[in-house]
Amino acid sequence: MAKDLVCNMDVDERTAKIKTVYKGKTYYFCALGCKKAFEEEPELYINAKTSDEAHPMHHHKEEGEDEPSDSSCGCSCGHKH
Ligand SMILES: [Zn+2]
Repeated sequence: MAKDLVCNMDVDERTAKIKTVYKGKTYYFCALGCKKAFEEEPELYINAKTSDEAHPMHHHKEEGEDEPSDSSCGCSCGHKH
């Protein structure tokens, strides 16, 4: 059984129609969208696999980043509070 690295689904390589070859290795996908996503950033998915499946790309937001300035409420409506 091969694994669709994009969505983590199991793909049977004997019946899989959607596949791509990257650096001499064949990767299988459940859907065209997954193949496309992989081809756009193959390293991302290959590396994500080796670093284990527990946390798929959670973006941790830095504290203090993106703070609204004192004079505005942070919304982009433009009115004054
Ligand atoms: Zn998939």
